[in-house]
Amino acid sequence: MTAAADAADCARCDAVCCRLTVVLTPQDTVPARFAATTARGIAVMARDADGWCSALDRSRMRCSIYANRPEVCRRFAMDGPYCRAVRADYRERIARGIPLLLH
Ligand code: SF4
Repeated sequence: MTAAADAADCARCDAVCCRLTVVLTPQDTVPARFAATTARGIAVMARDADGWCSALDRSRMRCSIYANRPEVCRRFAMDGPYCRAVRADYRERIARGIPLLLH
């Protein structure tokens, strides 16, 4: 398999980056129903019990607020080192049967 074939591509991914904690900035204007506050008072994107961001459209595994997504999401580089690391961790968890649930 070539490196190009291994490259991450959002069209062929389970939106794994949308399982990460997304800290909101004061400039972000996401709908309030998708926002949450941590126990330490940090504004973040809410996540559902399965770990994915609550703004993720589960039928298509695509961001439902893409045009209005937070700055952190805009900066996330597809196929960058962090993207590759979280994809590798996700694949490992699936292969080893490690539950993905948050709670
Ligand atoms: S706001 Fe959109 S791009 Fe950002 S984590 Fe949620 S679903 Fe993914």
